[in-house]
Parts: sequence; structure tokens; C-alpha cells
Amino acid sequence: MPERATAPASTAATSALAAARLAAAMRDATDTRDLRFGPGAVSQTGAMFAGLFPGRAAVVVADEHTWAVAGAAVTAALTGAGVEVLAPVLLAGRPVVHADYDTVTTLRVALEPLDAVAVAVGSGTLNDVTKRASAELDRPYACVGTAASMDGYTAFGSAITKDAFKQTLAGPAPRGVLADLTVMAGAPARMSAYGYGDLIEKIPAGADWILADELGIEPIDEDVWMLVQGPLREALAPAARIRAGDEAALTGLVEGLLMSGLAMQVHKSSRPASGAGHHFSHLWEMEGLGADDDPPLSHGFKVGLGAVSIAALYERVLEEDLTTLDVDECVARWPSREAMAERVRADFAEPLLTPALAAVLRKYVTAAELRARLTRLRDRWPVIVERCRAQLLPAADLARLLDEVGAVSHPAQIGLSPHAFRATYRRAQMIRDRYTVLDLLTETGRLGPVVDRLFEPDGHWGRDRTTTGE
Ligand SMILES: [Zn+2]
Repeated sequence: MPERATAPASTAATSALAAARLAAAMRDATDTRDLRFGPGAVSQTGAMFAGLFPGRAAVVVADEHTWAVAGAAVTAALTGAGVEVLAPVLLAGRPVVHADYDTVTTLRVALEPLDAVAVAVGSGTLNDVTKRASAELDRPYACVGTAASMDGYTAFGSAITKDAFKQTLAGPAPRGVLADLTVMAGAPARMSAYGYGDLIEKIPAGADWILADELGIEPIDEDVWMLVQGPLREALAPAARIRAGDEAALTGLVEGLLMSGLAMQVHKSSRPASGAGHHFSHLWEMEGLGADDDPPLSHGFKVGLGAVSIAALYERVLEEDLTTLDVDECVARWPSREAMAERVRADFAEPLLTPALAAVLRKYVTAAELRARLTRLRDRWPVIVERCRAQLLPAADLARLLDEVGAVSHPAQIGLSPHAFRATYRRAQMIRDRYTVLDLLTETGRLGPVVDRLFEPDGHWGRDRTTTGE
């Protein structure tokens, strides 16, 4: 994806355009009523808060780091707008605040006696824990983002570790969201790389939605689709400039992330912004991969690698000629419910076994349903190939962009053994009921052979010996 030859627009002009597109996207959002975006936007925190919560007091939720970055500016903006500001709730975060349920409980207990609306000042974790704690108190909240690190600012739900694994706990998106590009440009470059990894997965995720659309499983909503896919390629192009902290380049990334969250909010599902590449990340998250690293292995790094993994898989899948698919044979080999459950038991132990079994059984189709689905797949295959090819980028290009932005493109970078990485292609299919290319391959009995080809000498992972050892 080459950078456009034209000179980049000024940050102010670029962000004004992005703000206009975001405002249009806000039309159908149900939770978020005010979204402000641009260089120096943090100064508008007070106006935003006073408009959303007239007469209410504010309490800033931050950790030592985000308080140092933006605490004073947020407090000054609130006070300047006549908002009463209580003493901040500072979460102890050395080296970082953990997105676990203990932190949610600590925060909820701290907020409960306060007659105030929380303003989360931070990135992923601060926003997630404030969202959940506020939801448990049945209160709205607002968020001031300090890094372009994920698409969760404008999304519902919080990714929290509870009962030993990472899960999405319910909670409305913030009533007000503020993204200050100047603050975000000053964040460590790796945090923009996290957000970039989260965003790049929207490319293969779009192909997954096309599959589900063509097979009559989950129709595409064109308006929601455009929120995510419309600005996506342009946002991803300047990877090197994003790494360098270029504000204009960062504008596209932040817009893309905010748009993705809004799309999920409007669609009331993460389908528009999450496909099989996110399944990879979720599995690794549930297993605690890199959770004890300092800093902990980010969502975006795992998702970016998941995106490369799935893009590589698609390249092989789209080479197949499924117009001659033997539907009778696929149906004859389709496991019973019990046999399918056995497969899950062979691949998982508790605490992951129970949710994996539930996901696989929720999406289990009967032989008759499978026959209808595969007949449609066979008939629609030429159109599916054409639509998916138009959507996707080569895995090698995704890997190069991730390298340029300083994210992760190879399993060896995150300490995954070749064996565990290869098994992810099989196991990731079992942890979510969302239909993706992994289900297409499972249902046609092709998952194992197609994955094997990726690890052959001419396959995406086989070209590199560090991934082929068993
Ligand atoms: Zn994500």
C-alpha cells in the first residue's frame, strides 16, 4: 500500500476532516453523545463534561503515568468550565494498571460513595476498568484518551480478566470521548503500534464478514461497513510516520480506531471490527501469553500477528477451487455434536474448556444445515473469491507494515513456540461462535491440510525456519 504521492495535509485540516466524518458517524451511536478530536482537544474536556452532565461533579480516574501526562490539563479544563472536580482516584500502576476484576472492584469501591461522574484519563486499561466500574454503579462516564493504542474508547464492553481468563464484560461506551492528538503523539511509539495492530486486523476481518454475508449467516450492514473500511487503508499507509509520532499520520490511525469503536457501538456487535485474527489474540489472551511481561504483551501486538496469520491463510484458501466441492463427502465426514465436543476436549483444559465447548456447540450446524451452507459456498465461490481478493492485502505486506510501525509480525517475537503457534489455527476456531474463514475450513474438512501448506517451504511461515519446528 504505497503512500500517496501528494504532500500530507496539515494536521489541523486533516483532523477537521476526520472530526467531521466522526461527527457523521455519531448519528447512530447509542451511548456516546459527544466526541471531540484534534490537536489540543483536551482543553475542551470541561465544555464536553458540562454539556453532558450539567450540574454534576467530576472525578478523574488515572494512574501515576496518565495523571502526569494529562491530569492537570483535564482538571484545569473542567474547573475552567465551572465543573466541581473532586480529588482524583489514582490507581496504583507499577509498571501498569492490570485489566483484571480486582482493579474493577477497587475502583468501584472508591467511586461508589462519590456523587460524581468518572472521567477516565488513559488508554486501554484505564478506560476498560472505568467503563466496567461505572456500569456496575449504573452511572455514565467520560473518557480522555492518552494514546492511539486500541479501538475501545468508543466501544461498549470491557476486556477484563475474571475467573482466570480474559473476557468481555458488559458496559456501555463512554457518554463523552475526547482524543487529543497532541497528547497521543507524545505517547511512547509502541502504544501507537498497539493501536495499529488492532486496526490492521480490520482488513482480514472484513473478508470474514464477506464470507458470512455471502453464506447468509450475517449480512453486511453497508453503513457500518463503511465506518470501518472507508478510512482504513489510508489510515494504515503511513506506518513509518506513525512510528515517528507524526501528528498528521497519527490522525488517520486515531480516526480509524474511533470509527471502529463507533461501528461496534452502532452494530451492537464487534463483528464490524473483529474477525479470526482477533480470535488468535483472544486465545493467547485467555492463556495469559505475555501477561507477566513488563509491559504486558498488548492486545494490539497479538491482534496484528493474528491479522498476518489469517491473511496468509486466506491466500491459500482463495487458491482452492471450491466450485467442485464434494458436498456429499463433507456432510458424510461431518462430526456429530458429541464428536465435535470430543475435539474441543482434546484441545482444551479448564478454565478454557467450558467457554470453548459452549462456543463450538452454539455454532454447531446439523448435517442438513451444513449441506445447505456448503451448497451455497460451492455456488457462490467465484463471487466470494473476487470479493475477498478485493478486500485483502498480501500477508507479506501486512507483515512489512507491522514491522515499519514497530509492532509484531512473527510468533517468535512474542515467545510463542512453533508448535503452539501452529495449533492456534485449529484452537482459535473453537473459542468464538463468530463465523470466519476458520469455520469455512473446518466445515469443508480442509483446515489441517491448508494450514500445513503455510508451513511448507514455499508457505508464508515455511520460508522461515523458526516457525517450522514441531
Ligand atoms: Zn481489538
